[in-house]
Amino acid sequence: MGWWSVGKISGVPIRLHWSALLGALFFSGFRFAPGSWLGFVLVILVHELGHAAVVKITRQRVHGVTIHGMGGECQWSGNATPIQRACIAWGGVWGQLALFVAVVPFAGLLALSLGRMGAELAYALTWGSLMLAAINLIPFGPLDGVEAWKLPGLLAQRFKRRRAAPARKAEVRRAPARSTEEVSPEVRSLMERIAKEARDARRKTN
Ligand SMILES: [Zn+2]
Repeated sequence: MGWWSVGKISGVPIRLHWSALLGALFFSGFRFAPGSWLGFVLVILVHELGHAAVVKITRQRVHGVTIHGMGGECQWSGNATPIQRACIAWGGVWGQLALFVAVVPFAGLLALSLGRMGAELAYALTWGSLMLAAINLIPFGPLDGVEAWKLPGLLAQRFKRRRAAPARKAEVRRAPARSTEEVSPEVRSLMERIAKEARDARRKTN
């Protein structure tokens, strides 16, 4: 109830709940600030699309993105590894950082061309977005921080496993050499004949 299907962005359906207006009002400090409201919705959209992008990169399935008063959600399914899940959690913040970098050079231009609304929008898409990203990284409750901050530990574990791995790899590399001894006599004589024919052929061409 109360959902509006906005459309699709690279195949991902986007839905907006009316309560997003309340979230936007809260974000603007309950002022009449259309630029801030628009900025709030765009920041949440970019955040959720950031999750969706990493879900796709890790070859899981994205079902859709929703925006509502408490922020938003990215619905996805698949059997992601713990490291992939942590990266997906980071995706939202990575999206916001990309937004910051993309908008900061044009912040002044937005304010100049659109007046107060442009300045509000520019602020929301840059510093406002960074503030929301920082809140989102608090490792508490349903916030992304809970999954995201597992990443350094998980990567350290994998690094340790990788360092222990070369010894095992060397064993695997020796294994095929041993297995040629087990080739049946018929196959061996066939291989020898092929090798001999190849030598004769080479001699002929010389
Ligand atoms: Zn998120």
